[in-house]
Amino acid sequence: MRPEDVLLPTPAGLYCPLGRFHIDPTRPVDRALITHGHSDHARAGHGSVLATPETLRIMASRYGEGFAGSAEVAKLGGTVRIGEADVTFHPAGHVLGSAQIEVAAKGLRIVASGDYKRRADPTCRPFEPVRCHVFITEATFALPVFRHPEPTAEIGKLLASLAQFPERAHLVGAYSLGKAQRLIKMLREAGWERPIYLHGSMEKLCRLYEAEGVPLGPLAPATVATGAKGDFAGAVVVCPPSEIAERWARRFPDPVPCFASGWMRIRQRAKQANVELPLILSDHADWDELTATIAEIDPEEVWVTHGREEALVRWCALRGKAARPLHMVGYEEEAE
Ligand SMILES: [Zn+2]
Repeated sequence: MRPEDVLLPTPAGLYCPLGRFHIDPTRPVDRALITHGHSDHARAGHGSVLATPETLRIMASRYGEGFAGSAEVAKLGGTVRIGEADVTFHPAGHVLGSAQIEVAAKGLRIVASGDYKRRADPTCRPFEPVRCHVFITEATFALPVFRHPEPTAEIGKLLASLAQFPERAHLVGAYSLGKAQRLIKMLREAGWERPIYLHGSMEKLCRLYEAEGVPLGPLAPATVATGAKGDFAGAVVVCPPSEIAERWARRFPDPVPCFASGWMRIRQRAKQANVELPLILSDHADWDELTATIAEIDPEEVWVTHGREEALVRWCALRGKAARPLHMVGYEEEAE
């Protein structure tokens, strides 16, 4: 039995011929197993979807209840038989409900990790390393230049700026699924008790996180109540990254544009996006996390997908570990 008999890359995504299902398919398929709710992994229109309850709720919130012909709940750690394959979901530490998908058949075990990180995140379960023959890893930040700083230090930078500029509103660009809630939760853990204002597009998913047991403290819509700009002096406003330098931002008093993203490690990117306060906060593993995870799991073979595949493949080769890039398309690296 070759690994490709269990899982193989196809134009629609990873496919398991023994179980006739796809993992995170990029086009509509009969049966989809979904690792997490980000839109490039979780798309609408499949015949059936198997995912964690949180991921199913995120998909229903984004696409409506009819997002798939049918939906089935995957219980973390519980194994289900699909065709001739045994499938088990394990936590991935990426966003609420995110999971790695283990596919085992005829003595061969492959883990498709989806997106993952190893840093602490108070809004989701931590990544669990799973022994396997083939580990499929993401490679969003798979270059040695990407070494994310401690998340609490980045939150500290935001709090220091708030203390230094009490008359300015801090507009924090953050992706609406995962990053926004993690940022808010970390601010709460750091002692920020004041209301946090949300751009309208952030509200639904923040409420969903709260309903799933992740309390976020007092939240309020970022609409101007009295019309006076001073309303938001010293406030934290969370919005989509695309809004921080747009017309929408001008309603706030002398706004400080911030962006919470792993890409903020690249100064050029911060400059291009007119970001005054870059916050390096990532929901993806950095170079050290990727290499430490491969070393810890110690699979016989590593498959590398979405991102900078070649550097990680080379790192494996230098250590005598078989590795190959999957070259799958349809997964966006910007959604971070
Ligand atoms: Zn993701």
